[in-house]
Amino acid sequence: MEGRSEIKEKLTNYEWLLDRLYKKVPPRSGSTEYKIPEPQVIRIGSQTIIRNFRDVSEKLKREPQLVAKYLQKELATAGSYDSSSGQLILNVKVSKRVISQFLNIFFKNYVRCPTCGSVDTRLEKRGKTWILICEACGAEQPVKPF
Ligand SMILES: [Zn+2]
Repeated sequence: MEGRSEIKEKLTNYEWLLDRLYKKVPPRSGSTEYKIPEPQVIRIGSQTIIRNFRDVSEKLKREPQLVAKYLQKELATAGSYDSSSGQLILNVKVSKRVISQFLNIFFKNYVRCPTCGSVDTRLEKRGKTWILICEACGAEQPVKPF
């Protein structure tokens, strides 16, 4: 049988834990609410230009160069990011739908925290390992390098 003081202590701890939990858990930057801007895609000859690439990258909270590298790898093509216009030119014919798909996969794997769903994250390279670090809940998740 537990004494009164023990029960009280447990209650207090529980309240403290709850309190802590509420403070720690950030408002969900919900996976469904967070919208990546639609890529503005134009195709010229055998090239594809993403006109709003800088804006898309900003929304993804990653350097355009990094997002560009990812797309180039997934599409097995070369490309060049023009930092003055904010456009990405890819040396391949690809549809807007395919680009959107890859941007969504990038967001899922390299931006959104798998633990709490926050987008307040950063990528850190530790040697050959890439870690997705969540600033909101502190979770660290190794991700596939590219
Ligand atoms: Zn998190």
